[in-house]
Amino acid sequence: MICGFCGHEFDENEGKRGCGGCPGGCHSVHCPRCNYKNPLEPAFIGKLKNMLKRKTSSDAGATENSEDKKSKAS
Ligand SMILES: [Zn+2]
Ligand SMILES: [Zn+2]
Repeated sequence: MICGFCGHEFDENEGKRGCGGCPGGCHSVHCPRCNYKNPLEPAFIGKLKNMLKRKTSSDAGATENSEDKKSKAS
């Protein structure tokens, strides 16, 4: 993941989790460089994004195919 504050790229497991300093419990990944609290993306959101991605990519493929047919016909 990329730190939203300093832009430092680091692995989620590399970041500090459960720091104990966040109010209401730490549910974030702290940047190892600046300690910025990056919100942790729940697993289901990633799945949702994948589903959307798949849908849009298949749609794009369909349009690409129809355009290809058109260009061949003309
Ligand atoms: Zn940072
Ligand atoms: Zn924390």
